[in-house]
Amino acid sequence: MQILDGVLVSGAIKEALKMEVAQLITNGKKVPHLAAVLVGNNGASETYVASKVKSCAEIGYKSTLVRLDATISENKLLGVIEELNADMDIDGILVQLPLPKHISDEKVINAIDPSKDVDGFHPISVGRMVLGAPGFIPATPHGIMLLLEHYKIDTRGMHAVVVGRSNIVGRPMSILLSSNSNPGNCTVTICHSHTKNLREICLQADLLVAALGKPEFVKADMVKEGAIIIDVGITRVVDTSKKSGFALKGDVDFASVSPKSSYITPVPRGVGPMTIAALMKNTFKACMDKN
Ligand code: NDP
Repeated sequence: MQILDGVLVSGAIKEALKMEVAQLITNGKKVPHLAAVLVGNNGASETYVASKVKSCAEIGYKSTLVRLDATISENKLLGVIEELNADMDIDGILVQLPLPKHISDEKVINAIDPSKDVDGFHPISVGRMVLGAPGFIPATPHGIMLLLEHYKIDTRGMHAVVVGRSNIVGRPMSILLSSNSNPGNCTVTICHSHTKNLREICLQADLLVAALGKPEFVKADMVKEGAIIIDVGITRVVDTSKKSGFALKGDVDFASVSPKSSYITPVPRGVGPMTIAALMKNTFKACMDKN
């Protein structure tokens, strides 16, 4: 069993981007600028946004954190997006999800200028991804593809099973793994809460992506010997032994599954840091596309 080390690989990606930024500065060019919009004060969202802003600083990007009250109206938020769209210095815009219940995620995502859509959630980005055209790929599946690429895992012909069909993880993951690319070229089965015989389907997986948000859901008896396991889940569970009062749990029962796997991502330090690395790559691309 080998650990797919998201911290190591994301560190290498960020280091390469840092060198590119240094080159831009030497050439008197503009550095990438990411705007992050955070609505309300959800603890997990605060942590994710803080990591993204920190990564920008490490690489040498500019970042702007737009903090908005949870009570902001949908119209006001759409106005903020419009201003960020119009700001020529800003290359990428991300709106941290989930948004408060009274605001439509869809309306807000659709309002982002597709050329600044570094999260890759806009319908234009999704369409390009489906067609295999260049564009922004959603950060989490993009990060997973970069991880597989780094470890030179040849996924050609594998049966990939993706558990979860959200627009931000499961569905784009299934599209990328089935693309005529490397990594890619898998035969993909996508599962969801209505899937029958989930255990039997997972047992057929050469590559299993767990993205359902249920802590330690995937147990050893659901996994084939030698399978590659990608654990996307991050759930905060109460843990009084920790200073924070919680521990992060993946969707995979790491203790029982890891001995059966050929490769596995841990939680934390697996897919999470790769998501940020992919976002940083998308932001660099947004800046380069403009200049
Ligand atoms: P969603 O809640 O949007 O989607 C969950 C999906 O899992 C749905 O398609 C749902 O099915 C399916 N599902 C739920 N229960 C079951 C079940 N018992 N059997 C089979 N399928 C099931 O979650 P996200 O995709 O946004 O996130 C998934 C997890 O990944 C979460 O823990 C999240 O925190 C984490 N995450 C981690 C990231 C990272 O950087 N590491 C980034 C983004 C998310 P249905 O459609 O039928 O409801």
